[in-house]
Amino acid sequence: MPDASSFSSDYFSSRARFRSNALALGWSVDAVPVPPLGPNGEELTLEVARIGPERPDRLVVVSSGLHGIEGFFGAAVQAALLEERFVDWAPPPGLAVLLLHALNPFGFANLRRVNENNVDLNRNFLLDGQPYAGGPEGYAPLDPLLNPPTPPGGFEAFALRAGWNIARYGMPALKEAVAGGQYDFARGLFYGGAGPQPTVEILRDRLPRWIGPAAHRVLHIDFHTGLGQRGTYKLLVDQPAGSLGADALRAAFGPAVQAWEKAGVSYAIRGGLGGWCKARLPRVDYDVLAAEFGTVGILRVIAALRAENRATHWCEAGDPRCGAARTELLEVFAPRDAGWRTGVVAEGVAIVDRALTALG
Ligand SMILES: [Zn+2]
Repeated sequence: MPDASSFSSDYFSSRARFRSNALALGWSVDAVPVPPLGPNGEELTLEVARIGPERPDRLVVVSSGLHGIEGFFGAAVQAALLEERFVDWAPPPGLAVLLLHALNPFGFANLRRVNENNVDLNRNFLLDGQPYAGGPEGYAPLDPLLNPPTPPGGFEAFALRAGWNIARYGMPALKEAVAGGQYDFARGLFYGGAGPQPTVEILRDRLPRWIGPAAHRVLHIDFHTGLGQRGTYKLLVDQPAGSLGADALRAAFGPAVQAWEKAGVSYAIRGGLGGWCKARLPRVDYDVLAAEFGTVGILRVIAALRAENRATHWCEAGDPRCGAARTELLEVFAPRDAGWRTGVVAEGVAIVDRALTALG
């Protein structure tokens, strides 16, 4: 059974483990450099492991670390897959499995959710013609509350709570800002970027090749943490509620599947990986399921993101407040609690199992 030992202590040990696990099983492996270099000048890479035919007609894709620090969890699921689930396993005819370790290696290595340009990569996958500008109307008035241009102080959660208690903007505006991202405040939270980031360019070049010319169906599980009730998960899909696609996914993956409601669609899905994959590979029936596992309450998550973002932009090097903010961010996105870790890894493997069954 998978357990908390599936978690690695940092990006580099996670990467080495992923690579050696995949090689030990005889999978093909590749490493794609993703600029910039790491904290000590090391090359950072997106690791790719694959098993199955050269020209599969169906694929299960499992990716981790699109949100950097959330990669601790996604990589733990990948470790459990390679160390237990896929041992002595061969794919059925026509099926390939593709594992992508650390889509945002900079964030994983530096304990940030965003990349080197402060970009939330799951808001950077804009479609052709969509401008890198704008955002929810509610974001601009929230900017002074979310992004004070000073190092973090104490009582972050308190300060944030107090901000809301003023009730000028309220939770709906904040949730919309979280869900929607924004393209106007480069040092702010949930920033979607001013142009396509290296990860997006790498996937644009390589994903079609990895998927192959014969594929007609892809189920792609992209692992995340930090949203929802602790220890539970939601599978966010880029399908309208009530559509045939959403119903089929619910039949395969259960009631955790959450499609988007008609209202507010434009913000809910702008810049996300799921819609982009569909658009880039129009001949493939491609579904990304963003598997969001809950950790702590949303107020603590936002407070941790806010403090860490301030520390990154406004602390001098060596300021202990920066270290404290990063430690809290790690706890918020990869809680140390062994019970949480054991439970979420087992659930993560079970989700991948459902995808394998659906395409088997
Ligand atoms: Zn995430």
